[in-house]
Amino acid sequence: MYAKIVILKFPPEVAQKALVCQLVKKFDLLFNILNAKISSRKEGFMVMEISSTSRAGFKKGIAFLKEQGVRVSSPEHQIFKDEEICTHCGACTAVCPTRALYIQRPGMEVLFDKEKCSVCELCIVTCPTRAMGLFTKKTNALV
Ligand code: SF4
Ligand code: SF4
Repeated sequence: MYAKIVILKFPPEVAQKALVCQLVKKFDLLFNILNAKISSRKEGFMVMEISSTSRAGFKKGIAFLKEQGVRVSSPEHQIFKDEEICTHCGACTAVCPTRALYIQRPGMEVLFDKEKCSVCELCIVTCPTRAMGLFTKKTNALV
């Protein structure tokens, strides 16, 4: 069995479609949803483990999601926090499901614990100053 954790970002125009269910029907894949949210901008976010009897089947399912406009990333990607830009407003701490972003009292400084980050990307769309970003570990390039 081939299994991998992926992070899916659904633009508003596809967020209401039952695309994930089609992975089962069309590609015979299994999935386990680890986290799911819809942002105030109607974008959908999902962290899930997808399993398949073959790597080829997994790749077909991922290709299908991408064709539908879903952005797919994996934990090979990593989140970074730009300390130069962060204003410590605290908005990201309200959406972070793993408490990787948290407020340290009494100074009220927002800190980022990389080890707890599930790379769900919710902080990226929430941050008003764009201090949170995503890069790929392989090339260190922004994605
Ligand atoms: S939302 Fe952005 S600016 Fe506000 S504390 Fe988080 S990283 Fe900093
Ligand atoms: S991507 Fe951002 S919101 Fe998601 S777990 Fe990591 S720090 Fe928290």
